Amino acid sequence: MTRLYHYTCAHAAPHITRERWLQGNVHPWLPDAGPLIHLTDLDAPDRNALGLTSNLLMCDRTEYRVTVSTSEAVHWPVFARTIPREVRRALEEAPGAMPMHWYVVRDMPVGVYAIEPTRKALT
Ligand SMILES: [Zn+2]
Repeated sequence: MTRLYHYTCAHAAPHITRERWLQGNVHPWLPDAGPLIHLTDLDAPDRNALGLTSNLLMCDRTEYRVTVSTSEAVHWPVFARTIPREVRRALEEAPGAMPMHWYVVRDMPVGVYAIEPTRKALT
């Protein structure tokens, strides 16, 4: 089992707290990949490193940290071989992106170990 983290916004946090499961979402650039849960081994949120820029999203997805423990996570460089090259390039070449810290769980929910506001959200 690997301890990993998922960062999310204040709107989604109550739902995750209630359900105790993370559910995947279909990435708009990866409609064929199925529902994906994006995880990282970074224990503090870094907007650029995580690819969580608000360029496309209105939400601040650095407000809450969800801790999971899973054996189903696939390291990004392995997963990335299965997606279109131009999509991989666009995601990995975003300014400050740190794809070596990215993990993906496909097509299944992941149990939540803990959910807490990040230090940023507390300030
Ligand atoms: Zn939100």
